[in-house]
Amino acid sequence: MSNLVNAYPWFADKTEHLVALHNQDRLPHALLIHGMHGIGKALFAKSFAQLLLCQSPTGSATCGCCKACELNAAGNHPDLFILEPEEAGKQLKVDQVRGLGEFIYSTAQQGGYRVVIIDPADAMNIASANALLKMLEEPGSDTLLMLITAKMGQVLPTIKSRCQHIECTVPDESEAINWLITESDLDEASARGILQINRGAPKEALAYLERNQGEVRAQFIRGLTDILKQRRSPIEVAQAWQKMDLELVLGWFYSLLSDVARCSLCRNDSVLRNSDAGNMLNAVAKKTDPVTIFKLMDKVHEERRAIVLRQNPNKQLQLECLLMEWAAVLN
Ligand SMILES: [Zn+2]
Repeated sequence: MSNLVNAYPWFADKTEHLVALHNQDRLPHALLIHGMHGIGKALFAKSFAQLLLCQSPTGSATCGCCKACELNAAGNHPDLFILEPEEAGKQLKVDQVRGLGEFIYSTAQQGGYRVVIIDPADAMNIASANALLKMLEEPGSDTLLMLITAKMGQVLPTIKSRCQHIECTVPDESEAINWLITESDLDEASARGILQINRGAPKEALAYLERNQGEVRAQFIRGLTDILKQRRSPIEVAQAWQKMDLELVLGWFYSLLSDVARCSLCRNDSVLRNSDAGNMLNAVAKKTDPVTIFKLMDKVHEERRAIVLRQNPNKQLQLECLLMEWAAVLN
């Protein structure tokens, strides 16, 4: 059956590890799967859930034709529960988490495991987390909870301490490039460039292509160049960026600045990750000192964090301030 999910190849060793634990009856009842956004953690969790539910798996592969595989392929296996916020970017409500209790404490309908995926695990307030704690402590036998997060710092310590952690890192560049080439029409150099812009996260790189973010990216780099060349003021550029996703843009800005810092410390432009802005970054690195850049990096990081935590009162004003500092890096 073709529509069962398969985790990305760079998760193969993790899947094998979990299968081995399961075969030895040592599978923990709660896993906290963490790692940066865009590397495929959710698909890894889902494919392992399907494997665990399959009635005749072979090693790390589902059979694709048992009753469980059929139900999974149709997306309605009664023993798989995926808990997500009702709206993307919102919190998991305490009632949603309580609803999970009924599932966990009932008997598995297909007689095997009950699997829960909570994504993202950082989208819980104290009340939701408390509702989950008891289930994490005593989930009952043959139950696996998989919690997923890209924001480990925002997962409550009480949740963290009750799970076994699986750290997911960015895949090898060559593996990620090969995958991206297979999924798109890119040549190797373009695939490498787009992967680097997206911090090595392959799924993020593919989403970048699919959402045509190249245009936004070009506008972003043009804005920074125009400020340095005094073709536009920081305020004008901040206005032009008004509709952009600031979390994304400040992530790019931070990455560009770290390139400048690296380049100016190493005196070598081969360390650049943002090759699409290479000329500008090189020019800035030659004319500024790393301390100025590190200070600006700290501010960009703080602003981005405030946006992620939704603590930012006036995004536009903050962006103008950051761009004014950017205008001053060459002075
Ligand atoms: Zn099966």
